[in-house]
Amino acid sequence: MNNHYNEFETVIGLEVHIELSTQTKIFCGCSTKFGSEVNSQICPVCMGMPGTLPTLNKKVVEYAVKVAVATNCNITKKCLFDRKNYFYPDNPQNYQISQLYLPICTNGFLEINNENICKKIGIHEIHMEEDAGKLIHDEALGKSYVDYNRAGVPLIEIVTEADFRSADEVILFLEKLRLIIQYLEVSDCKLNEGSMRVDINLSVRKTGESEYGTRTEMKNLNSFRAIKRAIESETKRQVDIILNKEEVILETRRWDDSKGESYSMRSKEDARDYRYFPEPDLMPINISGDYIEYIKTNLPEFRDEKIERYVKEYDIPKYDAEIITSEKALANLFEETVLCGANPKKVSNYIMGETLKLMKEREIEAEQISFSPNNLACLIDLDDRKVINSTVAKEVFVKVFDEDINPVQYVNEHGLAQNNDADELTEIIEKVLDNNAQSVSDYLNGKDRAIGYLVGQTMKETKGKANPELVKEILKKSLENRRGVGV
Ligand SMILES: [Zn+2]
Repeated sequence: MNNHYNEFETVIGLEVHIELSTQTKIFCGCSTKFGSEVNSQICPVCMGMPGTLPTLNKKVVEYAVKVAVATNCNITKKCLFDRKNYFYPDNPQNYQISQLYLPICTNGFLEINNENICKKIGIHEIHMEEDAGKLIHDEALGKSYVDYNRAGVPLIEIVTEADFRSADEVILFLEKLRLIIQYLEVSDCKLNEGSMRVDINLSVRKTGESEYGTRTEMKNLNSFRAIKRAIESETKRQVDIILNKEEVILETRRWDDSKGESYSMRSKEDARDYRYFPEPDLMPINISGDYIEYIKTNLPEFRDEKIERYVKEYDIPKYDAEIITSEKALANLFEETVLCGANPKKVSNYIMGETLKLMKEREIEAEQISFSPNNLACLIDLDDRKVINSTVAKEVFVKVFDEDINPVQYVNEHGLAQNNDADELTEIIEKVLDNNAQSVSDYLNGKDRAIGYLVGQTMKETKGKANPELVKEILKKSLENRRGVGV
């Protein structure tokens, strides 16, 4: 049975909705803030009241052009909005203002690198549109409510060509796209909050065939993991249908990640069903060549450029630079901490080691990191000057990470400064040696490893505050003093 799966290839195209992080909505002045009280950010325009007129938010065009330039698209110099007519309770106007005939840009691409093979993924078009409200279902009461705070929040929809052949390619593309958009600061692209939403159009065909099979569209994918699983599951479902000599139905399916399966939602609509027509209440948008040039020359530094610069300017390994730049918030943290005077390699070690570890333990995203770069720089300085040892430094870092404490003050208040007093340490070490005669004789009989245990005992006696290098040095001396004297 398994062999049959190898005879098929998966063909995937994506529709990616990105919620733009403008302060206000696309056609009115209401706030776009996420998570506010329901129906607190609404007005007659975004409620679709008769007699109201939309006014285009210029920032939306700016953000869309930025994404268009960064994804190598051709920008439509004169683009228009269209009405997409449909009724749904979360859509109070009974139509959505979108773009069908002349989207803001077309014909772009992004390159992905899959196991050292570079592949171009075509972008068919990007269009601007408004988001709908949100239905909230109360199953216990058997009622549904609607929150219009999201109605009119600006979106861009990025439609790719059907160029993907595997889940891995899809994930690589989405990761790259998300990072570009985050670096452009036009959206935070959070899948779990819906500011990045991915629909997957998927069909299968016998390898080598040129005709496409019948596709399905999958919605409701709120993590990269869910996307990967959904693609794999849908591929298998369609191949099984074909192997059973049945036919794949053109439909929209909803992915249930907890069950690991998809189910049919409705038959797929096409453009005809929406009776699109040009939006009569909005003027065409003219985008000049000068404006496009201005956007091009003001693009931010993207990941590849950052990696190159970090290696050159900060002399850190490429591997470090790749990890740090994988999230914009981490790259910012790195750069700001280095600006506070910390050694770049040490900052990189803190980010790749302790920071990523604590992010995982606390289940937080990079952009939720709240400590100030200056406090991390201070901590690295205490470590550098051997005011604290590395074990204590790690403990203090947890406090910096969780509570953004000032490390200098914290070390003083808690008496965590390292013990560098050779006389005091010698005294403690002599006692440790007296109490561990076996280890002493092991060491003197050539078992070098026994010293590790004695270092550990000394550190314990000093409550972890001794300078471990100094302890080792004194230990060696004291042990040699006991040679010949008899233990
Ligand atoms: Zn409004």
